[in-house]
Formats: sequence, C-alpha cells, structure tokens
Amino acid sequence: MSLHTRSVAELAAGLAAKEYSAVELTEYFLARIGAANPALNAFVTVTPERALADARRADATLAAGKAGPLTGIPLAHKDIFCTDGIRTACGSRMLDNFIAPYDATVVERLAAAGTVMLGKTNMDEFAMGSSNETSFYGPVKNPWDLRKVPGGSSGGSAATVAARLAPVATGTDTGGSIRQPAALAGVSGIKPTYGRVSRHGMIAFASSLDQAGILAPSAADCARLLGAMAGFDPRDSTSVDRPVPDYVAGLGASLKGVRIGIVKEFFEHGLDAANGAVIHAAIDELAKLGATLVDISCPNLPLSVPTYYVVAPAECSSNLSRFDGVRFGHRCKDPKDLLDLYLRSRGEGFGPEVKRRVMTGTYVLSAGYYDAYYLRAQKVRTLITNEFRAAFAQVDLLAGPTSPTPAFDLGAKMDDPITMYLNDIYTIGANLAGLPAMSVPCGFVGGLPVGLQLLGPHFGESQVLAAGHAYQGVTDFHRRMPASYA
Ligand code: GLN
Repeated sequence: MSLHTRSVAELAAGLAAKEYSAVELTEYFLARIGAANPALNAFVTVTPERALADARRADATLAAGKAGPLTGIPLAHKDIFCTDGIRTACGSRMLDNFIAPYDATVVERLAAAGTVMLGKTNMDEFAMGSSNETSFYGPVKNPWDLRKVPGGSSGGSAATVAARLAPVATGTDTGGSIRQPAALAGVSGIKPTYGRVSRHGMIAFASSLDQAGILAPSAADCARLLGAMAGFDPRDSTSVDRPVPDYVAGLGASLKGVRIGIVKEFFEHGLDAANGAVIHAAIDELAKLGATLVDISCPNLPLSVPTYYVVAPAECSSNLSRFDGVRFGHRCKDPKDLLDLYLRSRGEGFGPEVKRRVMTGTYVLSAGYYDAYYLRAQKVRTLITNEFRAAFAQVDLLAGPTSPTPAFDLGAKMDDPITMYLNDIYTIGANLAGLPAMSVPCGFVGGLPVGLQLLGPHFGESQVLAAGHAYQGVTDFHRRMPASYA
C-alpha cells in the first residue's frame, strides 16, 4: 500500500472506509521516517509514543462516527512551535534542553482537529537562514539530490513533505522560510496574511514579520490544514479577529477573468535564466486557464532585502535578549559572576548567524544609528507596502518566481552571507507588507524543482489557494516525487 502518494482527502477517505486505521497509517509514516531520516536529517525529534497515542484517540473518534476531515492525519511540526512535554529546540544549542510546558496555538488547534504528531522538524537556528545549514543539529539534505540544500529555514518540513515522510508539515515564514524551501524541495507552501494564524507559542524571530503556515504536496492539502490553524487567538495581540473562510470550498474558483499582475522587478536582480523560463511557462499556463496578465511595477521592491536585514535583526536582537542563561535554555558551567553568566551562556548557546543578526540588530537600534538605519528601513517598508496596495487596486493576484535559482550545493553560500540573503529577494516583500503568498511546484531545472510564487491582497488566502489549485488541475509537478522516495 503506497499511502504516501495519497492526498489528505484521500487519506481521510481511506480512514473513513476502514481501509486502514489511524494507528496503521501512523506506523506506516513512522517506518518511512525511520528508513529515510538518517540520510535526510529532516526530523530532529521523532515522537512515536505521542503519535501512537494521538492515533489511538483518532481511531476512537472515527469509531464513534465523530471524525472530521483531519482526524487521524499524521503531520510534522517545525521545531519552532512549542509542544507540551516534548523538546522544542528551534535549531539552537540554546534550547537543546528546553521542554516546552505548553502547546503553541497552531499545535493545539491541529491536535484538536484530530491530527497525529509524528515529530519535530529540523530548521535553521531560530529560523535564521535560507539553506537549513545554520541548525545546531546539522544540515537537512534535499531529497531530490542529497548534495543540495533543501532551502530554509523550514528545510526540515520541506524535505519531510518532499520525501513524503509525513503527508503535511507546519512551517513559519519571516522572509520566505515556507515558500523558498517549498520551491527548492518541490512542494507547495503557503504563508498566510500577517495576523491570520496565531503566533502564540511560536518562538519569536522578528515579530512583525513572523507568520505560521503549511507545507504540503498540493494547494488543496494546504487549504485543508490552513482552515484548521487560522483564526483569532486572544493570546496573540496581533492575531486578527475576522472569520476564517472555508478555504476548501473556495478551491473551485476559476481563473477566468482573474487579473494577475506580473511584477517587472520580480524578473530582475539575479533571476537564473533557466529558472526564469520555467516561471514564464507557468505564467502562460495561468493565462491559458483564463487569467488576464497585467504588467505591474513596484520600483521600491528591490529594496526589500536591505530593508528586511535592518528590521528583522533589530527585532531579533530584542526577542533573543530573553535567552540569558537565567530562566531557561543553555547555562554555562560555573559562572564567576552575573556578567560572565550572560556572556558565556549566550556565547556558547548561539551559533554564528544568530550572533551576526543580534549584533546587526543592536547596532541599527543604537542611539546614534536608529534614525539612519531602523527608522529609514521602516519608511521604506511603508513605501513597499503602499506599492503592493496600489498593485492590488489594479489586479487580483501577483505572480513571479519564488527563488532566483533551484537548490544549490550544501556549503556553497555559507561563507558569503550577502549571497545567502539574496535567496529571499522575491519572498521578503510579502512579509514586509504582511501579504499572503504561496509557492507551487512548476517545473524542473537540471532535475531540481522550481517554484512559482502567487501573492494575494491581505486576507486573500482563498484566491491564492484557488489559483494554485487551478494550476495544479492542469499540471502534475506537485505529484512528482524524488525517485528514491517514490
Ligand atoms: N532567509 C531569511 C532569513 O534568513 C528568512 C528566514 C525566515 O523566513 N524565517 O532571515
């Protein structure tokens, strides 16, 4: 039985038809993880006891005739989401010993929907990275080619879904960390509107940019999971109190007459020619489905990378100040005084990329430089947001590449942070403006997957998902699997 090729809806139908139980389904995916994870390093923690307990509960719910669409569906959580009683390390030595005392809202809601937690996925340290190489637990390998990175920071979740070690996985996206790994690993991934999904219990990187979302083979699977995660949470003051539409019902919307903006700046600044050709072919497909293509320009969009690398480090330097060796997390041995405790605990607990961000952040927030860097970056952020707003007055969606190149070699960019940062040149804009955006598989270059990015106006998740679904109705890139894991 090749259950890993089935969609979430098909898996749920098999459970309802008693073709297999939730326990059997869980054991099937645990066995796949056991076989593939030593090479991929996609999971940092596998939780078989928890998974089987969840599965037994799901079987009882199924037997009682009370099952919902996600009852008994196995999934993996990015290790940035707090999980009650289970280590939440966030890719860092700092939290290597941290057992969260509660579940993040995302984890709690998906558990309440009846899902089965298989384990926690590897990630860049504190979600800072584009290749999953900054993790304290070592890099994740791309299932399409083990010499390549899977993208980051949700690289563990992307590799998990690409190799079908779980049907779906959660992720977070501060500057592209769901969409870029989704593109590099050949899966679908959606970052919702800022405020759509609660950040409660999600370890903070840059609070005004961070947003939780989902990675899955298809837009339809993303829609199924997103509906269960989204919605107001009084424990997150930035969560928006607004009804959650039925994303699954919305999938049927046609692309006929939908205006799709092609942002000129998305096709400049380092887009690999072969990648670009695949994206153009995908956009032609959208036009064949009835969409009207409109040329759009957002002249300040190329400033999104420098803007992000002021705003995100500023917020991270503030958020990460809580890791002081006193309350939780790593504490150095035998501190001689309080200062020594702070310095050594942080010095030992954080890796080089996190330190670089904290130093950049404290610098741009310092009295002499605040106006020159932080304040100016916030102004440019507003300009970019306004350009997107003007674009969405003319069109319904925007389309372009997710990343400039397909997956690159492990180690290729680790000594060159600027080149690494430029990976997110097409994704960061959506975070700065708080927009929903998704990457869907749209082809291959040299045997490696390429992702098409679709962006919508605030709270336009339904339109974005429907466009991805329409595209997946006429293409099969989302069904392709790396040969060793098919
Ligand atoms: N790659 C970007 C960074 O390193 C974005 C990461 C993210 O979205 N969490 O900050």
